[in-house]
Amino acid sequence: MTRRIPEPFRIKMVEPIRQTTSSERAAALHAAGYNPFLLDAADVYIDLLTDSGTGAMSDRQWAGLMLGDEAYAGGRNFHHLCEVVSDLFGYAHTIPTHQGRGAEQILFPELVRRRACAKPVFISNYHFDTTKAHVELAGARAINLPTAAALDTARAADWKGDIDLDALRRTFDEVGADNVVALIMTVTCNSAGGQPVSMGNLREAAALARSRGVPVVLDAARYAENAWFIKQRDPAYADASLRDIVREMFAQADVFTMSAKKDALVNIGGLCAMRDDAELAQAVQVRCIALEGFISYGGLAGRDLEAMAIGLREGLDEDYLHWRIAQVAYLGQRLLDAGVPIQTPTGGHAVFVDAARLLPHIPPARFPAHVLACELYLEGGVRAVEIGSLLLGRDPATGRQERSPFELLRLTIPRRVYTNDHMDYVADCLIAVKQRAHTLRGLEFSYEPPMLRHFTARLQPISAEQAKAA
Ligand SMILES: *Cc1c(COP(=O)(O)O)cnc(C)c1O
Repeated sequence: MTRRIPEPFRIKMVEPIRQTTSSERAAALHAAGYNPFLLDAADVYIDLLTDSGTGAMSDRQWAGLMLGDEAYAGGRNFHHLCEVVSDLFGYAHTIPTHQGRGAEQILFPELVRRRACAKPVFISNYHFDTTKAHVELAGARAINLPTAAALDTARAADWKGDIDLDALRRTFDEVGADNVVALIMTVTCNSAGGQPVSMGNLREAAALARSRGVPVVLDAARYAENAWFIKQRDPAYADASLRDIVREMFAQADVFTMSAKKDALVNIGGLCAMRDDAELAQAVQVRCIALEGFISYGGLAGRDLEAMAIGLREGLDEDYLHWRIAQVAYLGQRLLDAGVPIQTPTGGHAVFVDAARLLPHIPPARFPAHVLACELYLEGGVRAVEIGSLLLGRDPATGRQERSPFELLRLTIPRRVYTNDHMDYVADCLIAVKQRAHTLRGLEFSYEPPMLRHFTARLQPISAEQAKAA
């Protein structure tokens, strides 16, 4: 049993949450088209939909809000933010954005334009969903190269976020380095289960890209959690400070994009930064003004920039990270003890339940992990999210459903929000669903949007006859 680590904070303010009845939940889910994204938050008891923007800010961050400088241009909070980015990451050019996808939408088209590829592709350990969408909007193709270990949820491995280096070499040869717009290393690898990327893998992948003249982008939403895993799992870094580890991680890349709604502990915000390429920074700033806002606020209020500057440092606090990662592991262990299959070991921000193993009678095309999400909500008002075929969607060229390597249910833990009693409740609900797993039926679309479909799709349970026929 993982030893419990008490919260390294006291509670200064509380927000009541309300449990619903079973029939209220059934009605709410029906009205939401069997899509938890479309539920009213008020109908959710424990919300594990995402760790994005759902964290609790500290007293210092709230105090920082009062120091907002709402000047249109060149406000003091922007300068503070630039100082922190330069100090923590060693990057010279900071462009704030409204969130991570804001950084993607101003950076990717510029990278595509610069590289002028015949058949542009981006290669990644795994493109996050909005990252893939922006790659495609920029006219390029997204290639994911996770390792075989990442795909085997039952096998414990330290670095399931790594990119497959052999596949990377092969892909460079196959598509031609001239067609590779950028290598995007996602830390931690959200889509593979919040799994960390090792320093060695990051270094080698980056060196490979550089040797072929391809720029390296770090998708750094969970920079702190990845650094924590490197310190815990790589003996070479056992005595290193998290700050030094973060510095070294960022030194491998040329550019980073960041959703600050994750490890930077703010409810809204993002970053796009260049280590030293002033020309690229200038070109991206032009796009920033058109799409996000002036270069010193990027779609945020001055007070948001201040909270982000403070949060970037707080995210690296060792006591906080120790507790955070232990809380995720605690939920994972409770599920494992009850025989619920999960991605092991647990990652940084979520427990990923392997729905393909829990519901083997439901084929990928009937979205087993999404079925599980609906059932968990019905059981106890817990909202979680599918990471599988529904999320992956269709090949834009052929319109065919892409083959997802995973059918996972992500129980995403907001930062500094829930206690381990909440985690026990979530585990109890999921264990109850496991008891009736064999009775669950798949889902089909009643409305399927053309892209990013998981957010607004509407579904319905298939009939018993359909289920039998499958
Ligand atoms: C959340 C996230 C993004 C997108 O950021 P938003 O702030 O949601 O726009 C990009 N990449 C990764 C790895 C993420 O987790």
